[in-house]
Amino acid sequence: MAQRHRVVIVGGGFGGINAAKALAKANVDVTIVDRTNHHLFQPLLYQVAAGILPEGLIAPAIRSVVGDQRNCQVALAEVQDIDVENRVVIAREPDTGELRLPYDTLVLAAGATHSYFGNEEKFAQYAPGMKTIEDARYLRDGILAKYEMAELETDPAEKKRWLTFAIIGAGPTGVELAGQIAELAHVVLPRDYRHIDTTSTRILLLEGAPAVLPPFDEKLQKWTHDKLTKMGVEIRTNTLAVDMDRSSITVKGPDGSEEIIPCRTRIWAAGVQGSPLARVLAGKLGIDVDRAGRIPVGPDCSVNGRSDIYAVGDIMTLDKLPGVAQVAMQQGKYVGKLVTGRLAGQPAPPPFKYFDKGSMATIGYKAAVAESFGMKMTGVIGFLAWGFIHIMYLVGWGNRFGALYSWLRAMVFSKNRGHRIITFDGAENVAHRGVGGPISKQRLGDNVPVPDAPTELSGMRVSTPDDAS
Ligand SMILES: Cc1cc2nc3c(=O)[nH]c(=O)nc-3n(C[C@H](O)[C@H](O)[C@H](O)COP(=O)(O)OP(=O)(O)OC[C@H]3O[C@@H](n4cnc5c(N)ncnc54)[C@H](O)[C@@H]3O)c2cc1C
Repeated sequence: MAQRHRVVIVGGGFGGINAAKALAKANVDVTIVDRTNHHLFQPLLYQVAAGILPEGLIAPAIRSVVGDQRNCQVALAEVQDIDVENRVVIAREPDTGELRLPYDTLVLAAGATHSYFGNEEKFAQYAPGMKTIEDARYLRDGILAKYEMAELETDPAEKKRWLTFAIIGAGPTGVELAGQIAELAHVVLPRDYRHIDTTSTRILLLEGAPAVLPPFDEKLQKWTHDKLTKMGVEIRTNTLAVDMDRSSITVKGPDGSEEIIPCRTRIWAAGVQGSPLARVLAGKLGIDVDRAGRIPVGPDCSVNGRSDIYAVGDIMTLDKLPGVAQVAMQQGKYVGKLVTGRLAGQPAPPPFKYFDKGSMATIGYKAAVAESFGMKMTGVIGFLAWGFIHIMYLVGWGNRFGALYSWLRAMVFSKNRGHRIITFDGAENVAHRGVGGPISKQRLGDNVPVPDAPTELSGMRVSTPDDAS
């Protein structure tokens, strides 16, 4: 029997899943290869970091998303190379074995990763970003553990340091995180701690541009600025992070002067670059990636004019399209349909055209901004629009109802966060600011003072093992 046309899709995110679905009726064998087993809804990652949503609700298994699609299989492996001559995707299996996936058509949909604008060495270890479920869990540890440290701390200056959070980048992600930390500090946590006033939390939102939410309408920027300020967020625009270490961040203000701010938590929400696979493929084809490490594609999303390689979503660059979910979804669908049509002998479709449905960002409970089809919404209206859109784009009714229930519980009924889970290991890890897996004090080579005398808290004595003997 003749071999069916093989489509390999690298990445089961917004672009990859939509490409696969658009190939459901085609006479092809589709393989989605992803280094995670889940299709991640990144726009709600910050809610995992804030303990509002459990991760499963925003990360259904890719297998279950395409479970009914008989021509589609899924492989858990990390793609490392692409042999464009022999048309083979080369990936590493979790047990380190090599997986070779031959293709007739390749769809590259591997998304983006953080960009520290050339400061990777210095910043990545101290200012984690948020792109994956692991990142969100790590940030949740990073945020909640600081309150635990502050509760145990006896030195007022150190207490303050534990309770200072700096968010670098005031795009939608930075704004959403700042709003969530403010709600934790002012609404959720005050009743739970005995030795700290959580409302004294200092939240700095740093932005290099002159306003928060740079791509948004000026009116919405101002609304967001005022709302965050009322929530206790200290916004500094025209300000850059120029240095950081374990316990401080150095910022350069609009007048060029530098200030060292003591703080234990920095969160990177400032920049992204295309997945390293863009460079791998570009190198193979002898073309250049753009400044943000993205591979250029033609009007039909093909790479270098080839009819066997396409790139969609955050990994590609075309007509200055923004790195948003809608672009990835629409391009994924477009390429899936294009391949289906071509194999059915139909004429090539017109060039890809992006249909902009608008943008939105939440600031907190009953507070969001949205612009769509010329309409500008703020406050409760914006919040309802935001909630409706996000619920509808989650995959599966179970997840939609689950998210709705979690929101009502977290924001309306209990004013609590149902998923405030941290462990000693998690707290220890973030306390020493290592990134990526538990890091011991020895591995960090850090002079972390380990008190050998019991720590005195006002009205409470913490016993050491010696006390028990
Ligand atoms: C915190 C955050 C908030 C956001 N909020 C919004 C928002 O409100 N609205 C909006 O429109 N957009 C938002 N975005 C952007 C949006 O999520 C992206 O534009 C979209 O996910 C891009 O889709 P994609 O398919 O290109 O990549 P992704 O959805 O990132 O999918 C890429 C997939 O490729 C896999 N992968 C990567 N490298 C490899 C490899 N080497 N081997 C195998 N698999 C690999 C990854 O595991 C992932 O599953 C947000 C992004 C983030 C990070």
